[in-house]
Amino acid sequence: MKKVLITGAAGFLGSHLCDKFIKEGFYVIGMDNFITGDKKNLEHLESHPNFEFIEHDVTEFISIDGPLDYILHFASPASPIDYLKIPIQTLKVGSLGTHNLLGLAKAKKARILIASTSEVYGDPLVHPQSEDYYGNVNTIGPRGVYDEAKRFQEAITMAYHRFHGLETRIVRIFNTYGPRMRLNDGRVIPAFMGQVLRGEDLTIFGDGSQTRSFCYVDDQVEGIYRLLLSDYLYPVNIGNPHEITIKEFAEEIIELTGTDQKIVYKELPQDDPLQRQPDITLAKKLLNWEPKVDRKQGMTITFNYFKTLSKEELFKSEHKDFTSYINK
Ligand code: NAD
Ligand code: UDP
Repeated sequence: MKKVLITGAAGFLGSHLCDKFIKEGFYVIGMDNFITGDKKNLEHLESHPNFEFIEHDVTEFISIDGPLDYILHFASPASPIDYLKIPIQTLKVGSLGTHNLLGLAKAKKARILIASTSEVYGDPLVHPQSEDYYGNVNTIGPRGVYDEAKRFQEAITMAYHRFHGLETRIVRIFNTYGPRMRLNDGRVIPAFMGQVLRGEDLTIFGDGSQTRSFCYVDDQVEGIYRLLLSDYLYPVNIGNPHEITIKEFAEEIIELTGTDQKIVYKELPQDDPLQRQPDITLAKKLLNWEPKVDRKQGMTITFNYFKTLSKEELFKSEHKDFTSYINK
């Protein structure tokens, strides 16, 4: 049985990846320090014979007993609100954490896939974004802590490949959504759905003309799985190219949920990318992959998930207490 280590396992994407690899017959070791994740996301795997969990901060030395075939490094705050609140931890997990995991991969002769992001393209001047675009990032802006950590992560991963001959894979993930996102992580889908469920107005930042392209989690996980098992070592975009403005998206949510709540406009955060759409030509050709779940289907599943949350969870203003991590 092949063994895979998944970091960020208690998070949104990490927990779905654990499910996928178990379903495909792997032995899965999940690792997380719960800084933005939730134990609840892994509860259903607790007694699974092919799953174990290690609570650990990956910015500290990582020790795993026995052989390891694959590593998926998904530990990192991922929402703009989270990485603004914990900027130093964000930089550390992308740099020191990645370095530790590359070292572990080298020691175990394991193949490693790292989770990069469309944010490496910054506020893109090329549209849609293909893998050969170098990006337009403000290194010292508020999003720089995340964007530059991810760019460093790609650079050190390629260096380990070139210098040590490590088997590496890099996925550039575009906005992905689905069940197990944290309701109050500030990302637009949980934000709008939480507002609908609490009876609040929907908050659009800026005039809502900025665009995003949303990918359902099952499609994302399938793309990542295929990339890991492929023999391609350069970055690959995985996302859904169906682009929409945030204003149209808010209207879609209002229609989907049948609410009569209003839209209110707030200031656009600094360096918020004005447009984003993945060019997935490479993934289609290389992995024979493309997204299958359309937005209406995916949003319905996601909204039904948020509807199952308790009133207490719904009205908590923030689930996460970051105080113990600040300036560590
Ligand atoms: P998430 O916040 O739900 O999950 C991240 C997980 O990493 C959390 O469980 C958190 O506790 C854990 N973590 C953070 N720092 C850690 C550390 N130092 N040690 C151990 N665990 C740590 O976010 P997500 O949406 O699931 O994102 C997962 C990965 O995918 C991230 O690397 C993110 O950059 C990348 N990504 C996600 C998206 C998306 O749309 N969801 C887009 C681009 C990239
Ligand atoms: N956004 C919004 N209202 C919200 C939350 C987000 O209009 O309550 C906007 C945000 O400014 C951005 C887009 O929605 O333009 C997507 O934001 P998200 O935080 O989900 O991810 P990003 O793609 O910016 O990393």
